[in-house]
Amino acid sequence: MSDKKLHVIPLGGLGEFGMHMMALRYGDDIIVIDAGMMFPEAELLGVDIVTPDLTFLKENRHQVRALLLTHGHEDHIGAVAFFLAEFNVPVYGTAFTLSLVERRLEEYEVPDEPDLHKIRPKDLIEIGPFKIEFIHVTHSIVSAVALAITTPVGVVIHTGDFKVDPTPTDNELFDLHTLADYGKRGVLLLLSDSTNADRPGYSDSERAVRPRLEDVFNRAESRLFISCFSSSIHRLQQIIDLSHESRRKVALLGRSMTSVTEIAHSHGLLSIPDNVLIRPQDVMNSKPSQVTVLISGTQGEPMSALSRVAVDNHKHISVKPGDMVVLSSRIIPGNEKTIFRMIDHLARRGADVLYGSMNPPLHVSGHGSMEELRLVLNLVRPRYFVPIHGEYRQLAKHARLAEHLRNVGLEETFLCETGDVLELDHRGARKAGRVTVGRICIDSGAPGEVVGEMVVRDRRLISEDGIVLPIIAINKHTGKIESVPEIVSRGFGLESDQEFMRAAREVVVKTLENSSEEEKTDAGVMKEKIRADLKRYIHRQAERRPLIMPVILEI
Ligand SMILES: [Zn+2]
Ligand SMILES: [Zn+2]
Repeated sequence: MSDKKLHVIPLGGLGEFGMHMMALRYGDDIIVIDAGMMFPEAELLGVDIVTPDLTFLKENRHQVRALLLTHGHEDHIGAVAFFLAEFNVPVYGTAFTLSLVERRLEEYEVPDEPDLHKIRPKDLIEIGPFKIEFIHVTHSIVSAVALAITTPVGVVIHTGDFKVDPTPTDNELFDLHTLADYGKRGVLLLLSDSTNADRPGYSDSERAVRPRLEDVFNRAESRLFISCFSSSIHRLQQIIDLSHESRRKVALLGRSMTSVTEIAHSHGLLSIPDNVLIRPQDVMNSKPSQVTVLISGTQGEPMSALSRVAVDNHKHISVKPGDMVVLSSRIIPGNEKTIFRMIDHLARRGADVLYGSMNPPLHVSGHGSMEELRLVLNLVRPRYFVPIHGEYRQLAKHARLAEHLRNVGLEETFLCETGDVLELDHRGARKAGRVTVGRICIDSGAPGEVVGEMVVRDRRLISEDGIVLPIIAINKHTGKIESVPEIVSRGFGLESDQEFMRAAREVVVKTLENSSEEEKTDAGVMKEKIRADLKRYIHRQAERRPLIMPVILEI
């Protein structure tokens, strides 16, 4: 018998939120599952996205054979461009997932033409010693799959993200049969989504949102603004259907909203009745009771369409008293302050804002709760189990859910974190050391800026380009600028160039001039705008990317 071993190596997403990436190695062949990103925390201001450290894969460069994608959420595909810049290997995913990848690749210059392979559920592919079957799962995004990977030492099931939705809005059912078939034949290792492992019961079906949305449509007398994640195609479909039924036209607002709906529509995953769509510039001329605006920016992202509308700084659209604004999404922990500030602005404009948890819900989770996780565990009945996709407390809860399987063949559950190596062979499984992992901060340029080159740098490099602190004193009540903006910098190297610094101050003044009074009273919005504009200026003029941290003194 061969003494080759199977190594399962999480490179991101275990014991942390987002940034999913997993490597499987058998002999000299490595396949990689997902390449996701995470959004930076506030402490990393000045950095746009965070991706997994690829050192382990780079050290084994000649062994990397393929990238397999489970679905199109950013925490699973957001780092594909950075991965492809290093490894020119084939990428496998469903047609919709790959279209979302292509949309992201347009923003970056990847050296070689990417080798994208469309797969469909039930397809079987072979990569070196791995035979991979794709299994359809239900999730908050369409076209999501789990992977059944047959290796010389046994079968590994990777669930991707899932919930067990018994009544999905597109009637594409979770392929539990195939999962159970593998379970019957014997599964060596299960890797399963733990995001909601701390929620008892079942997650609501996507259909549960419909009655609540119906209620909203019945109550709305004027313009209706609805914000949800642009990738939630099921949700968008329900909103478009309800708009059509209540004779409202639909306008799409925000870059991601327009491009993702276009992609979903072109794949036949989103049906849009004729003559329903109107252009954003026609919204204000239409009868208020006959318009729905689908708008991106549920998390209060300062540059998003909804944030701009909230401070009345959108080219075509403003919120008027009597309008209704619905946030059909969850409040991602950490974003509360920004979201509530945006809601305050909307309320100030006289809008009725609906948000948060209500019964029936305005939003349902895309991840399975305890009973769904148990169902998958019971069907797969693995010999070994590793909870994935979650912070440590969720992984630990998920491990507990598997305890009862000890009677039916579960030998051990491993609580692994990013970087831990799990080794499997004909004798069994064990932890076998760690590999280099970490976070890479990426500066992708300001929204709207075309990034000609991919700039990857860690915080050490950022510190090499120095720090720039624009300091602005704003009168909190009037929104008036109290003095000429100052710019302080350290380690930037151009502080003695008076002409450059004068022009930089001028950029800040312009940003202030182009902002509405209400925006100026919102330090969060102003910081982001100043950062974006100054960053663009400094990069264009000096080819540098210092850390820019605007300081707003509210007087
Ligand atoms: Zn995810
Ligand atoms: Zn997901």
